[in-house]
Amino acid sequence: MTVQAHILGYPRIGDKRQTKFALEKYWQGKTDKNETLTKLNEVFTTNITDQIKAGLDIITTGDFAHYDLVLTQAVAFGVQPPRFVGAEKLDTFDRQFYFARGRDSTKVCEDTPALQMTKWFDTNYHYLVPELDKNQTFDNTDFSQIIHQVKTAQQILAQNNANNPLKVVLVGPVSFLYLSSIIKDKEQQPESCGCGSSHVDVTGDDEVKLALLDKLLPTYSKLLAELGDLGVEWVQLDEPILSLDLDGKWQQAFERAYNGLQRIPPKIIVASYFDTLGNNCRVACELPVSGIHIDITRTNTPKQYVTQVIDHLPSHKILSVGVVDGRSVWTTDQASAQQILAEAYQKLGERLWVGSGSSLLHLPVDLAYENIPSELTGKLAFAKQKLSEVVICAKLAKGEINADTRAVALNLSALTDNAKTRTGEFTKRYAKQQERFNLPLFPTTTIGSFPQTAEIRRARADWNKGNLSDDDYKTAMQAEIQKCVEEQEKLGIDVFVHGEAERTDMVEYFAQYMNGFWVSANGWVQSYGTRCVRPPIVVGNISRPNAMTVEWINYAQSLTKKPMKGMLTGPVTILNWSFAPSDTETRDILRLQIADAINEEVRDLQESGIGIIQIDEPAFREGLPLKAANHKHYWEQAVASFKHSCSIANEDTQIHTHMCYSSFHDCLEHIAGMDADVITIETSRSGLQLLDAFKGEGYNNAIGPGVYDIHSPRTPPADNMQVVIDEAVKYIPEARLWVNPDCGLKTRNWEETISALQNMVAMTKALREKYAK
Ligand code: GLN
Ligand code: ZN
Repeated sequence: MTVQAHILGYPRIGDKRQTKFALEKYWQGKTDKNETLTKLNEVFTTNITDQIKAGLDIITTGDFAHYDLVLTQAVAFGVQPPRFVGAEKLDTFDRQFYFARGRDSTKVCEDTPALQMTKWFDTNYHYLVPELDKNQTFDNTDFSQIIHQVKTAQQILAQNNANNPLKVVLVGPVSFLYLSSIIKDKEQQPESCGCGSSHVDVTGDDEVKLALLDKLLPTYSKLLAELGDLGVEWVQLDEPILSLDLDGKWQQAFERAYNGLQRIPPKIIVASYFDTLGNNCRVACELPVSGIHIDITRTNTPKQYVTQVIDHLPSHKILSVGVVDGRSVWTTDQASAQQILAEAYQKLGERLWVGSGSSLLHLPVDLAYENIPSELTGKLAFAKQKLSEVVICAKLAKGEINADTRAVALNLSALTDNAKTRTGEFTKRYAKQQERFNLPLFPTTTIGSFPQTAEIRRARADWNKGNLSDDDYKTAMQAEIQKCVEEQEKLGIDVFVHGEAERTDMVEYFAQYMNGFWVSANGWVQSYGTRCVRPPIVVGNISRPNAMTVEWINYAQSLTKKPMKGMLTGPVTILNWSFAPSDTETRDILRLQIADAINEEVRDLQESGIGIIQIDEPAFREGLPLKAANHKHYWEQAVASFKHSCSIANEDTQIHTHMCYSSFHDCLEHIAGMDADVITIETSRSGLQLLDAFKGEGYNNAIGPGVYDIHSPRTPPADNMQVVIDEAVKYIPEARLWVNPDCGLKTRNWEETISALQNMVAMTKALREKYAK
């Protein structure tokens, strides 16, 4: 009897980010489509060959999206929001990029706001949100990209003399609808955000979405039939929403959908991941399909979870057990995997499959390019290494081999003290701060970063390569800081920043200076489209041996009499944007350790005379667990760690925080609980709905509602900016309002930055006159 080994999906960026470079060149018009497709095909070929070579039984394909899998499918189903005029003239390759970027590089269609994107569950990957009309049809199909992948994969198999069955990954129909948004009657013109932390609310409109199911199913059937005709044995329909707390109508939608898709071949396996099935266990087990996949890597009780699912599973169905963590860079604990899998094998025999918990998309591609410190040798596994791990686990299930590696425990020691809170109550603190800084009404400030120019990047690259000495690098960065201070001086900004020239990515910057992190050289992971991030890896107890920012900030302060904001990243964001264990207990310990390190930095900044310190928390809401039952604990811990990070601040030290969300409705109480003196937030893109949330809901501290959208290259007129403040004064007393852009300026150039800030300052002067009376 065999136990089939398979994965749920694989990174498509390539081991050297080939996909990214090929596509960006194509968009810039530097290569043609054929050349680009050749480059992409090389990565695709490697992805299939690596699976064959690793010894996987079933070869997975279909997930090789050129931008995003949800988008690929929306395009294949003929979804085209009306503002993309002329998109039907483009082939699916160009059309998907037009939707994703709002720009058609072939120049057939006009620029228009891109599709919005939002986080893919609790990962840092962002998918493109399909915009559906309430009368949407899905008839205008074009499956060519999916079909092409299947045929190519078949050729690669043949070339390798392999006859493994193929499995095609698609987003399942229920999740597809759930994750879409419904176009409102008055044309919404959303703008997609580049800062990697955008948040679109796709909840709501349930009835309208569900009413589309009957129209969508025939399209899925048609696609399944075509795949079956091509000889595809399996289709993996991803239904990650099965890990959410679904209400009755969505659960029923599952039954309705899959009753409508019964047709063999191909056989269907429905995949859940990122959490347990929870209340959807019965629904998932009873679906009229050939098998289901569960992710056992995100529960503290994996063994019980497997047993529970087996108990519910009808006796002819396959159970794929995702035991190799698709989101952890550590090797699998073979001993505990064997325990669980051997028992499952006894009960299921051939009906057991072994897989990765989720797609391996969320991991860096290959460890082979890393210089691994000796204490980590043999302990790490990236996507390519995980392929072999899955194969090993399938053998462990049958008892063909013995467990080899031991669990890689981080061996953490929690802080001995509990989280601390700063003293003083906001009103008194703010009065003392006002006495100290004597800021005008509506103080102006920016969020932290100023343009990251090509020169800055070049200097850092040279420094990293050893072509620029430490001293020369320091001089170069100081020159940037000086420019930044001079510009703010000319603009007449009230509270200055140093501009963050020395930071490529803020989380990576802090991780580099803390103990307990390892920063890989090539550990890139797709964040969205061609944007990749390189999350630091938590490898032990986190602490801060030396000051991380004090020298830069003091240098910046030495150049001006205006207050200079110390600029830090908060513990919640640093943890969320790193590779760290997924269990709650470990995360709570780590978050607090990071908070303690930041607290020491706050102390040193404060002692050096810095009086205003910003602690960014753009990922504060992102770490929210998928299941509502775990929310309360998360919020408590997140708030406590933020408060701990600034607990050392004196009452006349002003603590700022920054978040860039467009939706606070479900978390305002926790944002208030952070008790930062000033919070700067995004408001311009979300219209003024965001301010609405602050209305009468008890937010009593100071707020800087972003008066313009930094993602837009156009210079925003002062009038538009003033609307934000005129609206805000209706809800928030003038004395508690600040004026600032809605996010950092690092993606903008100097020209745009200066003209936008000039308008912002002019607008503020006018406001001061208006409201002085
Ligand atoms: N201080 C950071 C910056 O200005 C904040 C980044 C963010 O909100 N994502 O770049
Ligand atoms: Zn931001």
